[in-house]
Amino acid sequence: FDGMTLVELAKRTGEGIGVLQGILINVGESIDSEFYPLSIDIAELIAMEVGASVKRIHVSEGKEILPRPPVVTVMGHVDHGKTSLLDALRQTSVAANEAGGITQHLGAFVVSMQSGASITFLDTPGHAAFSAMRARGAAVTDIVVLVVAADDGVMPQTLEAISHAKAANVPIVVAVNKCDKPAANSERVKLQLASEGLLLEDMGGDIQVVEVSALKKTGLDNLEEALLLQAEVMNLKARVDGPAQAYVVEARLHKGRGPLATAIVKAGTLACGQHVVVGSEWGRIRAIRDVVGNLAERATPAMPVEIEGLKGLPMAGDDIIVVQSEERARMLSAGRKKKFERDRLLKISNGRAEELEQSE
Ligand code: GDP
Ligand code: MG
Repeated sequence: FDGMTLVELAKRTGEGIGVLQGILINVGESIDSEFYPLSIDIAELIAMEVGASVKRIHVSEGKEILPRPPVVTVMGHVDHGKTSLLDALRQTSVAANEAGGITQHLGAFVVSMQSGASITFLDTPGHAAFSAMRARGAAVTDIVVLVVAADDGVMPQTLEAISHAKAANVPIVVAVNKCDKPAANSERVKLQLASEGLLLEDMGGDIQVVEVSALKKTGLDNLEEALLLQAEVMNLKARVDGPAQAYVVEARLHKGRGPLATAIVKAGTLACGQHVVVGSEWGRIRAIRDVVGNLAERATPAMPVEIEGLKGLPMAGDDIIVVQSEERARMLSAGRKKKFERDRLLKISNGRAEELEQSE
């Protein structure tokens, strides 16, 4: 999409060049020639104006491609120990080990291994969050930890988690939890999972299974190692320099500091002072804080950070893009708001039409 000319845009959207030129003038932009490449922001804005959908494809402009930590989401049946496992892992995290401990809730935390490798965990367990993120096109999660209670076995939401992971093409590492319980039977869990089509390592597949107890905090090292091994197999890498491609993991309104968003950069670098569009909101990054709450100048891939300076509250899964100026940010935000509203109304009227059809 990057560098598209007005002529190409006209062809793709099926609109006349004159119409597109009119929009261009309306948003205060001018171009020398319809064969001159438009900036991606302007192209998106024009496309939105004519009701076309836009998907930004981030080309690797940067030269430096480096290994990056995996981003992990925990899923599984209710009461199988997702929250407990996250809590236990969080206690081994960077924030917990810093003096003062965990002072803030970021929506993500980072576990550092002695080898220097690290793992980023998203702090919101559950399928709704995962689906919401994916629905917005936010492919943030690299690996799913499937928590299955050793005494309860595979349950409906276990299957649901498996199908979410499969649909998103995200590999699974199984954590058989509650192994401290007398009724624990991890062999039975494995057989159940295998009969659901999971190709477990024990049986010649490549899905790792780790026995843990979130309560007794046992097996956590093994789980972390399994995740790093899975990450190694996936050869996770990211472009470090160049414009950031990032996603919101969580957002909240702070009394004094205004809207705060926890973000994870997928590629490139997000820096203080940059103008951004976040979903349909916009702003200028006033401050970046790391997981410990320390101010940082920039955020690099897989590093969860909190950003301050947005004018409105974004939603989990919103994309964060860097634009050249405040004016651009405002314009894109307004354009996206308009489009979202139009899509929303369209959905409602489609829903009505369906209802009518059904009632006929
Ligand atoms: P979630 O619904 O998946 O988030 O499950 P929770 O983390 O809330 O755990 C549900 C219940 O199982 C709680 O009462 C936990 O204390 C208990 N639990 C979680 N992990 C373990 C474990 O490893 N061993 C035992 N015995 N109980 C656990
Ligand atoms: Mg829970």
